[in-house]
Amino acid sequence: MARHIVCLTFDFDVMSGWVARGMTTPTPISRGEFGIVGAGRILALLERYGIRASWFVPGVIIETYPEVCARVVEAGHEIGHHGWSHVPPAALTREQEEAGLIRGNQAIERLCGKKARGYRSPAWDLSPHTVDLLLAQGFDYDSSMMADDYTPYRARHGDVAQLDGPFLFGATTRLIEMPISWSLDDYPHFEFVRTQAAVLPGLMASGAVLQNWLDDFEYMRRTLDWGVLTYTCHPYVIGRGHRMLMLERLIEGLLEQGAAFATMADAVDEFVSRSSP
Ligand SMILES: [Zn+2]
Repeated sequence: MARHIVCLTFDFDVMSGWVARGMTTPTPISRGEFGIVGAGRILALLERYGIRASWFVPGVIIETYPEVCARVVEAGHEIGHHGWSHVPPAALTREQEEAGLIRGNQAIERLCGKKARGYRSPAWDLSPHTVDLLLAQGFDYDSSMMADDYTPYRARHGDVAQLDGPFLFGATTRLIEMPISWSLDDYPHFEFVRTQAAVLPGLMASGAVLQNWLDDFEYMRRTLDWGVLTYTCHPYVIGRGHRMLMLERLIEGLLEQGAAFATMADAVDEFVSRSSP
């Protein structure tokens, strides 16, 4: 029987993304703080539909907002690792990255009594060490790469990219990759960001994004008997009124098409049980 899974995932950055970029003046901090308002709205919406989601939370945010994070756990949602701070692994030394994985997991263990099974890198930029470090720290899955859309796969380590020869693929590991895409992330569609180097226009009409997101589910349903589609939202982005209506319409539209909502950890388990002999 066909089964089409949807993982709603929320990257609960609050102000940590702005702090990681050195944007620590009051306005960007307040922009991140709006994530607390958004989180309350999202928790209420998910409760109304009985949906369990996966929340990827940096350790610094767990320590900044322990009560809010406890509400997320009490509502039955999964907590995933999203770095200690929001600095992308590619910008860290191996030692810094390892220390952040350990420290973030300590915060998660204090919050929910167990370590995270899943990791999602800040800004989706893994370092050459990330896969090995995740394996050493006992993670079951990562959700930061883009080599598929509806089908999880096993992450490689030891790739060699070279200009004077073909790309050399490293060995496949036991780490499950739950693929993502910028097109299924609210941030680039909606956030207006101006820095000295660039302007991200954002501010798309929510109906256009909704149609793209529903169409990606429809294509999975038409072409595969089993698959997982992952949407990524940020409470301070999706939490605005017109986007909350979009999220509600997304859930309604997916339910009409027969979607089965699951946490990412549950989707990983289903993938593993299907792919083992
Ligand atoms: Zn993030």
